[in-house]
Amino acid sequence: MANISKIGVVGAGTMGHGIAELFALYGYKVILSDVSEEVLKNALDKIRWSLDKIGSKRGVPGLADMVLANIESTTDLKYLASSSDYIIEAVTENVKIKKEVFKILDKHSNEGCILASNTSSIPISELAEGLKNPGRVIGLHFSNPPILIPAVEIVLSQYTAKHALDTTVKLVESIGKEYILVKKDVPGFIVNRINIRIFSEALRMVEEGYPHDLIDKAFIHRLGFFMGLFETMDLVGLDVVRNVLDEMVKRGFEIPKLKIMDDMIKAGKLGLKSGEGFYKYPGPGIYSRVSNPPTDDMYSIDITRIISTGINEAAFLIREEVSDHKSIDKAMKRIMNLPMGILEYADEVGIDIVIEKLSSLHDKYGDPHYKPDALLEKMLKKGYLGKKRGRGFYKWIYGEEKFGPVNYYKHHDYALIKMNRPDKLNALNEEMWIGLRQALEYADEDPGIRAIVITGEGRAFCAGDDIKVMGGWKDISDAEDFFHNKAAPLLTKLLEVKKPVIMAVNGLAFGGGMEILLFGDIVVSSDKAEFSVPEVLIGAMPPMASTLGLLLLGRRILPYCLTGDRISPRQAKDLGVVDIVAPHGNFWQIVLEEVEKLRRAAPLGIIGVKKASNAIKLLAMSSLNIGISELIRLSQTRDFKEGMSAFREKRRPKWEGR
Ligand code: NAD
Repeated sequence: MANISKIGVVGAGTMGHGIAELFALYGYKVILSDVSEEVLKNALDKIRWSLDKIGSKRGVPGLADMVLANIESTTDLKYLASSSDYIIEAVTENVKIKKEVFKILDKHSNEGCILASNTSSIPISELAEGLKNPGRVIGLHFSNPPILIPAVEIVLSQYTAKHALDTTVKLVESIGKEYILVKKDVPGFIVNRINIRIFSEALRMVEEGYPHDLIDKAFIHRLGFFMGLFETMDLVGLDVVRNVLDEMVKRGFEIPKLKIMDDMIKAGKLGLKSGEGFYKYPGPGIYSRVSNPPTDDMYSIDITRIISTGINEAAFLIREEVSDHKSIDKAMKRIMNLPMGILEYADEVGIDIVIEKLSSLHDKYGDPHYKPDALLEKMLKKGYLGKKRGRGFYKWIYGEEKFGPVNYYKHHDYALIKMNRPDKLNALNEEMWIGLRQALEYADEDPGIRAIVITGEGRAFCAGDDIKVMGGWKDISDAEDFFHNKAAPLLTKLLEVKKPVIMAVNGLAFGGGMEILLFGDIVVSSDKAEFSVPEVLIGAMPPMASTLGLLLLGRRILPYCLTGDRISPRQAKDLGVVDIVAPHGNFWQIVLEEVEKLRRAAPLGIIGVKKASNAIKLLAMSSLNIGISELIRLSQTRDFKEGMSAFREKRRPKWEGR
């Protein structure tokens, strides 16, 4: 890097003072300018306050004095220009003001001095135009607060020279930041373009009647966002968001007008700075973390709908060669502090689902920005659907196996085990019990697998034991063979499995199909699912629900074991059989959110929980054996045979009591 020791920072507002502090902290000499001594004093006070905090945290007394000694302030822009080796402009987001500043900088700075702009929305090319040397102008987009956000966007204009880029990269690295290269000067660059889409969709949902705090809860508690979208908008300031948006719209970015935002700005509800935005704060600028505890209704929010709009924007940026998938995800993770990249998210839920969401929004609202980007359509055509095909924006490990009527899919780091007898509602015949065990063992032994999901093909999860098979038993040895050699080994495996198991109840779960849920670690149910343990209605009994079920859930399961009454998903949740009830339309995305949560958790911690909880469940094994023996005994009675026949003949059974 051509000897850079003096950094000029023009504008000492929110961003300028933070940028000055950052460079001074890294030992650079900084000249900070603004239009008045008062603004500069205010900026230096803020820098001192922040450095005092850092100093006391790091145990460095006198840090503020040391760092502030590196900062010189001035209202003389020409002096700043002529004395700096690298200049960062951070004045008000107004193209006229910025162009004037650049004119002065261009005229009075040394030849080799790079001129960077921190603008959020004004094209760098527009700022460079008309200057003596537009090649030295570049975008260097810090996010607020510059000290804390670990990455910046470096934006190339159509004129930016290679040496301006090289110098900027080295400079950025010298202050410990990562960078994301924005190869073309599109309005809003990467992060703001994607954010604006996501924020706007969330706002649209509020206009449709969804409470903003519910949307925030969904993002925080389901996706692991550090902060909700509306909380973020409050912190940034609605006027700032609006301003960036307006500047982008002026330059051809298409987005529908959102009335709610204008109404709030008109009412002075700008966010934290005014004391009220979407949330209320103790006073203007007085921050207190919004309390947004999880609630069951947060699952009603279609998160994928909101993120799909950002994914569509990202697809545009890739197709236009502004950036690539990895850089976009890095930007969203490092700058927005998202727990995952939005294109990783796209690959997780599937490109087909993203397109489906966008198309239905396009049909509903007709806004052109909802039209799925050509890149997404191309991916769909090629079958690049994401993890479920081994290829999406990224490449993933993919595998398929068959264990009798059970299909096994390796989706990179989780196993999807699908009972596949949809015409028989995935009833548990001998092959199904065996296949499930084999698939489970296969997943458990694969070191690359972090979580196992069990679900059913078609409209049912599992209708329980196959009545046809049970009705065909000739004597007790058939029943014993079925339970001891086919069913019990799966149950034992379920009690030993080292990996966490998610039961994804996509539809009806009856009898054994409901009972095996007791062995799962997380049970997600579609709100269209139905549950029951109706064995007594066919002369049998539920061996797992009346033993393990009673031990795990308490006596409230007993009435259902005794009556065979139907159980709704909500009732199943109240009973403790189900953990999450998901709207059917977003059921699968919510299952995948649980996979992602397991992925985020510490692997050794998960092993510990599994070992401990399996040991507790194993304590129930002896009672489970009592249940199985009881069922085997029942299978030899006349009532059992009558129950089976009546079920097949769709008539009411007549019980003899023997
Ligand atoms: P701000 O209004 O807080 O500060 C701008 C400062 O520039 C003011 O102090 C103003 O007096 C000063 N100024 C105006 N004309 C000047 C001139 N001719 N010479 C010197 N100083 C002058 O604005 P901000 O939020 O700090 O934004 C600054 C830039 O950073 C904008 O381009 C904005 O888009 C961008 N940005 C802002 C954020 C954010 O979160 N606030 C984030 C990233 C980028």
